[in-house]
Amino acid sequence: MPGRIEVITGPMFAGKTTELLRRLERYVIAGKSFCAFKPETDTRQQKTSISTIRGEIDLCPMPVSKLTYIPQHVEVIVLDEAQFFNEEVVSFCQEAKDQGKVVLVSGLDMDHNRKPFGFMGDLMCIADSVTKLTAVCPCGKDAVYTKKIDGDKAQLIEIGDQCYLPYCAECYNAESVNYM
Ligand SMILES: [Zn+2]
Repeated sequence: MPGRIEVITGPMFAGKTTELLRRLERYVIAGKSFCAFKPETDTRQQKTSISTIRGEIDLCPMPVSKLTYIPQHVEVIVLDEAQFFNEEVVSFCQEAKDQGKVVLVSGLDMDHNRKPFGFMGDLMCIADSVTKLTAVCPCGKDAVYTKKIDGDKAQLIEIGDQCYLPYCAECYNAESVNYM
């Protein structure tokens, strides 16, 4: 199997992990083995499983502080919440691809200030395919940004879905939006 890097990105609540699982399901049905990692800073308990004709597939991403080794016993490597990984994530993905592995990456493209998040931009450059998903803005339009609506606005990384909402450009720039 030729190696490749696929990046799935977009704002929060865009279904990135769901899309990751949909793609992974195809490899599992094809008999490929996988392992998944996530940054240990991500402590949220979110659903990472999908029901398939082959039964339940669960990512069970292993929390790691650093991506130190490329697992040799699998054909597919999954990285979830990749925006929180350090710069070694770029060489890790490239090396894994060179070894003939499929690397499925999902993560936020921008932080809540609309700045590129972590090394996601670098990953999108070296990827063979990039898919940008959208969420749904409270106004009903496609949302491409994540806005912080609660908590400390100066703090970049605050784990907790309740602090954020996805917004379209118009609503993101509005002084205050209250569709609730
Ligand atoms: Zn909107």
